Amino acid sequence: MLQVKGFDGQILENEPLSYHCTWKIGGNAKYVVTPQNERDLRLIMEWTRENSVPWYVIGNGSNILFPDDGIDGVVIKMNRGFKDKCMVAYDGTEVITYFGAGNRVSEVLSYLFKMELEGLEFLIGIPGCVGGLLKMNAGAFGNEIGNFVEWINIYSPHSGARTLQKKYLKLSYRKLELSEDFIILGGAFRVRKGNRSSIKERMKEYQKIRREKQPIGQASCGSVFRNPEEGPAGKIIEEVGLKGFQVGGARISDKHANFIINTGNATAKDVLTLIELIKQKVWLKKGITLEEEVVKIGIKKTVRARVI
Ligand SMILES: Cc1cc2nc3c(=O)[nH]c(=O)nc-3n(C[C@H](O)[C@H](O)[C@H](O)COP(=O)(O)OP(=O)(O)OC[C@H]3O[C@@H](n4cnc5c(N)ncnc54)[C@H](O)[C@@H]3O)c2cc1C
Repeated sequence: MLQVKGFDGQILENEPLSYHCTWKIGGNAKYVVTPQNERDLRLIMEWTRENSVPWYVIGNGSNILFPDDGIDGVVIKMNRGFKDKCMVAYDGTEVITYFGAGNRVSEVLSYLFKMELEGLEFLIGIPGCVGGLLKMNAGAFGNEIGNFVEWINIYSPHSGARTLQKKYLKLSYRKLELSEDFIILGGAFRVRKGNRSSIKERMKEYQKIRREKQPIGQASCGSVFRNPEEGPAGKIIEEVGLKGFQVGGARISDKHANFIINTGNATAKDVLTLIELIKQKVWLKKGITLEEEVVKIGIKKTVRARVI
C-alpha cells in the first residue's frame, strides 16, 4: 500500500487507466498519483526509489496508449496541481508568461485572453496540459509551442528542480528530447500584446477548422502518426484505402484517417494491430514509413498483423 506522510495530492489504487486517457483504453495501474506540488513529487519519488517501483509521468493523457494488462507501477499525473500562471517580464510589446505544467490549454488561453496577450491561439482544441504540450512540442496550423518557449522548469529525482534555458532544449517536430526521469514543472513563453477581438476571431476560426476536419467528441488520441516528408499521414492512409477500416473496437475515422477512434470497447491490442496494418499497407503501396506520434506507456508486447 502506498502511504506517504504529508502528501497533499491524490493516490488511487488499482485504478483503471482508461479513466486517465482520452482513448479510454488500458487495464489497471497499481497506483495513479496526482501530486499537488513539488514536495508531493519529491515524496513520491522517494517512495518509488525506496520500494523499487517503476514510475511514469503523464499530463492529461491525450496522446497516450496504455496496455490492456495495466501497469505494475506508479503513474504520476501532472494535471491537477502545478497551476501557477504569471507574467514574468515585459519587453515593450512582448511579454514572458509562466505556466505550471498542470494548466490545460483552455486555462492558458483564457489567462492570455484576459491579459490581452496573443500568440498561442493555435493551441485551441488540443486537450493537453502544459507539461505534455512541451514534451510533445504540440502544434497546429503551421505553428508549435517550441516557437514560444523561453525556458522550462524540470524536476528529476537525482538532481531536484532546475531551469533549462531555451538554448539547451532539443526541440523538433512533435518532440522535446528530455531524459526519461525529467518531469516538467512548467514553462515560460514569449507572447505579444494583442487585442481581444482579434484573439477571439482567430480562436473561433481555428475551432471551426478543427470541427470541420476532425472527429471531435469521439475517443481518440488525436493524430496517431507523425506527418512524414511525403505529406499529411491522414491523406496517405486515405489514399491506400483504409478510411473506415476497423479492428475489434478500433476504427480509422471516416472524417480524418490519421485518427483511430475507440468505438466503445477497443483494446490496446486492437489499436496496435490497426497501427501495424496501416504501417504495412502504407509501406507496401507507397514505400512510405509511418512513425507513431502517440506515446506507448508500459507497452512491452508487440503485435503481428496480416496485411489486407
Ligand atoms: C482530439 C485531439 C486533438 C489533438 N490535436 C492535436 C494537435 O492539433 N496538435 C498536437 O500537437 N497534438 C494534438 N493532440 C495530441 C495531444 O493532445 C498532445 O500531444 C498534447 O500535447 C498531449 O498533452 P497531455 O498533457 O495530454 O500529455 P500526455 O498525453 O499525458 O503525455 C504525452 C507525453 O508527454 C509526457 N508528459 C506529459 N506531462 C509531462 C510532464 N509534466 N513532464 C514530463 N513529461 C510529460 C508523457 O510522458 C508522454 O510522453 C490531440 C489529441 C486529441 C485527443
